Amino acid sequence: MNYNKKTVRDVEVAGKKVLLRCDFNVPQDKETGEITSDKRIVAALPTIRYLLDNGAAVIACSHLGKPVATFESYVKKQVEKGKDASSVKKEDWEKSLKKLTLAPVAKRLSELLGQEVIFASDVVGEDAQAKAAALQPGQILLLENTRFEKGETKNDPELAKAMASMADLYVSDAFGAVHRAHASTAGVAAYLPAVSGFLIQKELEFLGGAIANPKRPLVAILGGSKVSSKIGVINNLLEIADTIIIGGGMAYTFSAAMGGKVGNSLLEADWMDYSKDMIEKAKTKGVKLLLPVDTVCADAFAPDANSQVVKAGEIPDGWEGLDIGPETVALYCEAVADAGTVIWNGPMGVFEFPAFAKGTEAVAEALSKTSAITIIGGGDSAAAVEQLGYADKMTHISTGGGASLEFLEGKELPGVACLLDAE
Ligand code: ADP
Ligand code: MG
Repeated sequence: MNYNKKTVRDVEVAGKKVLLRCDFNVPQDKETGEITSDKRIVAALPTIRYLLDNGAAVIACSHLGKPVATFESYVKKQVEKGKDASSVKKEDWEKSLKKLTLAPVAKRLSELLGQEVIFASDVVGEDAQAKAAALQPGQILLLENTRFEKGETKNDPELAKAMASMADLYVSDAFGAVHRAHASTAGVAAYLPAVSGFLIQKELEFLGGAIANPKRPLVAILGGSKVSSKIGVINNLLEIADTIIIGGGMAYTFSAAMGGKVGNSLLEADWMDYSKDMIEKAKTKGVKLLLPVDTVCADAFAPDANSQVVKAGEIPDGWEGLDIGPETVALYCEAVADAGTVIWNGPMGVFEFPAFAKGTEAVAEALSKTSAITIIGGGDSAAAVEQLGYADKMTHISTGGGASLEFLEGKELPGVACLLDAE
C-alpha cells in the first residue's frame, strides 16, 4: 500500500469548495448529550484553519455514534432485542436520532474557531444543498451526521455523488474512520480530486513509515487483553519486525501453550495452538520473540487485591496474572534501549489499576528514554501512555483506535487508498 499521498498543501484550495471529512465522533454524556471531550474537534482545527485561511469554503462532515438510519431497521433492531414490533414507536426512533445530531459539535467548533459555523439539518437534502451553494470563501458549514443517510455505511454511489456535487475538492482528515469504506470516507473520492489533511498526513508519515520503511532494529511490543483480537497484528509484524515482545493478558495464552500454569489468568484456550505456531514461525523467520519470565499475580481482579510476583508459568491456583514482573520489565527495557523503531500496541497489564500499572509504566518510561522512533497504536495503549504522563515523550501517538490496528495489520485502508498519490 502506498502511504505517500497528496495533502492539502499540494493542491490549490483558494476559491474552492472543500468537502472535509472530519472525525467528530466525540464522546457524549449519555443523559444530557453534552460533549465530554472535545479532543477530536481540537485535533481537526489545523486543517480547517489552513483551508479557511487560504481562501477555501469548507463543507465539513462527520459521523457521530451509530444511528439507525431508517425506521424499518430501527424496528428490526428492537425486535432483535426482544421487543414486539407493534410496540415500537416512530417517536422513539426519532428521539434516538436527535441524540446523535452534530449540532452540539457545530457549537463547540464555532467556539474553538472563533467564527460562525453554519449548520445544515441534513446531509445532502435541501438545507445542505442551499447552504453549500451560498457558502463563501473563509466560511464553514457543518453537515448533519452522515450516518443519518442510510447510504453512508453502504458506500452508496448515489449518496457519494450527491455529497461530491456540493464541492470541488475532497479532503479527508478522519483517520479514525479510514478503515471503513463508507460514502463520506471513500466513496466521494470517485467524484472529486481527493487529498489528505494534516492529521492523516501525520499518521501516514509515522505509522506508514514505521511499517513500510522502519529504522531498524524494529521492535514491536504487543500486549492488551486478547490474542484473538491481535492475530492480524501479530501475523503482519512477524513479517517485518526484528523483535516481538509479548505482554499483557495475551501472554498467558502463550504461557499455557508452552505448558505453563496460568491459574485464573485471562486464557484463550482456542488460541493456544496458534500461539505455539507463532513461536515456531518466529524461530524460522529469525524474529526474536520475548515472553514474560515473571508475572505479578493477584488473588482477585480488583485494584486492592493481594499480589505476589511468581515465575512465568507458575501461577498458583486461584491467582491471576495482572502485570508483567520486575525481571520481565528489565528484559523488555533492555530490548528497546537500542531499537531504531518501536511500535507499541497493547498495555503490559491492567494499567487501569495503579497497583498493576507498573509494567506498562516502566515500558513507557523506557520508550521515553530511547533515541528510537516510538509509535503508539491502539485506543487503550494511547490512553495508558497519556494517563501515565508519557504522551509528549513519544514520537507519535495514533489517534485512530481501530484504524491504527488495521494499519498495523498491513491492511489496505479504503479511506487512504482513495487519496491521490503524491508525485
Ligand atoms: P489497545 O486498545 O491498545 O489495542 P487492548 O484493547 O488490546 O489494547 O487491551 C487493553 C486492555 O487489556 C486494558 O483494558 C487492560 O486492562 C487489559 N489487560 C492488560 N493486561 C491484562 C491482564 N493481564 N489481564 C486482563 N486484562 C489485561
Ligand atoms: Mg482496546
